[in-house]
Amino acid sequence: MCGIVGFIGREHIVYDIMMGLTALQHRGQDAAGITTFKKLFHEKKGLGLVNGVFEEKHLKRLIGDIGIGHVRYTTHGSNELKNAQPIGTNYPFGISMAHNGNITNFEEISERLYKDYHILPNTTNDLELILYTFVSELTSSKNLGSVRPDDLFDAVQATQKKVHGAYSATAIIANQGLLAFCDPNGIRPMILGKKVTEEGIIYGVASETVCFDHLGYEVVRDLEPGEMIFIDNDKKVYSRKGHVKEQRFCVFEFIYFAREDTYLHTRLVAGQRVKMGRQLAVKVREAGLDPDIVIDVPTSGYFAASGLAEELGVPHRRGLVKSNYIGRSFISSKQSEREDIVKRKLNPIAKTVEGKKIAVVDDSIVRGTTSKRIVKILKDAGAKEIYFISAAPPLLHPCIYGIDMSVTTELIAANKEIDEIRNYIGADALIYQSIEELKKQFDDMGLNTCMACLSGDYPTPNAELALRQIEKERLSVKDSE
Ligand code: SF4
Repeated sequence: MCGIVGFIGREHIVYDIMMGLTALQHRGQDAAGITTFKKLFHEKKGLGLVNGVFEEKHLKRLIGDIGIGHVRYTTHGSNELKNAQPIGTNYPFGISMAHNGNITNFEEISERLYKDYHILPNTTNDLELILYTFVSELTSSKNLGSVRPDDLFDAVQATQKKVHGAYSATAIIANQGLLAFCDPNGIRPMILGKKVTEEGIIYGVASETVCFDHLGYEVVRDLEPGEMIFIDNDKKVYSRKGHVKEQRFCVFEFIYFAREDTYLHTRLVAGQRVKMGRQLAVKVREAGLDPDIVIDVPTSGYFAASGLAEELGVPHRRGLVKSNYIGRSFISSKQSEREDIVKRKLNPIAKTVEGKKIAVVDDSIVRGTTSKRIVKILKDAGAKEIYFISAAPPLLHPCIYGIDMSVTTELIAANKEIDEIRNYIGADALIYQSIEELKKQFDDMGLNTCMACLSGDYPTPNAELALRQIEKERLSVKDSE
């Protein structure tokens, strides 16, 4: 999972890109990159956080009124600088592209690009495959001299048919404008925003609406599955439906990944998490549990915990304090780093938890190691009983769409019964969200979601093959750790 932005419409657009990427930092901490265009492409990429990668001297040379940016979270390919985005090409036009997501037919596309066009990607980043497929389709356009929006859209549509998986992408087309598109199922988010200024309109696309909040832009709308948008240099906006399939927006954007203050498909993420918490109250009561307080695992458990507490009529307290200066455990790509981070980032407030029966709400349970540590931390601090509550249903299948949801052998719910998991993490009770309730929550809003990691129902073709390839890759990364 990564974060992307693209902007067009005012000089020194890099400052908007910088602000947008900072707002998206939670979506990836491995690397960051910005490309702008004025006569030439101007680029700066680096490993680490946005504020560490870009210094004022870089921003000064990233000139132009159009640009794109990316924060990277490694799921495909290694975490090296050469895999950082955006990635560019000079033929048939100058194009620089960034994406968020994961391609599931990586090997098929690689082989086809080599066989048909003798293209050999420079990196193990799957963005190159989207970029070169798009470029090879564009090359066959009859209007290479003056590319029209429809030529770009035809090339994107052909790319969407060939490239399977989850992806939202944005690209600078040199001297032409800003392009953005989504995969046929609309699995990954992409939102269009704009700002009207005295100098004219600035347009932006971004993975989350929080980018626009910080910049004073208004949100225009979310892109639909398969949709393509092109904003030309005169700020004329073109839009077309490309290769479209049934909508399957990632439910985990609501559960964990997106920032609480973001709106996705017009729904506030925080509000959806509160609903998940309220639904869990029914299960807590059915289990005969009577907690004294509800606490959250900071920060992604906060809103589900507040919904649960409200519905149960018990106080919601802060029982764990998180250091904000240590990375999120879930998005660190190495298991060794993840465990180290959990150990250092949470501290209990003993006065709040001692002697209490506590419902502890987390967004999900992946491997169970974090939950086990949290239960131990709270019990060591004097908690009487711990009821561990997961806002997500049991994770039974790996995600093949860009969230590092481990391999099946490491997903605790795929390998243990609920009571065995409870026992493993050391909790006195364990409650999971039900998949039916979660599905109903989004069905009621008319949003079709991907829940493949919960149900095994993958929306893209040849998922079995993709699963085998991704498991193979993740295991080889583990072996090298
Ligand atoms: S498999 Fe799960 S995490 Fe992956 S896109 Fe689907 S819902 Fe999101």
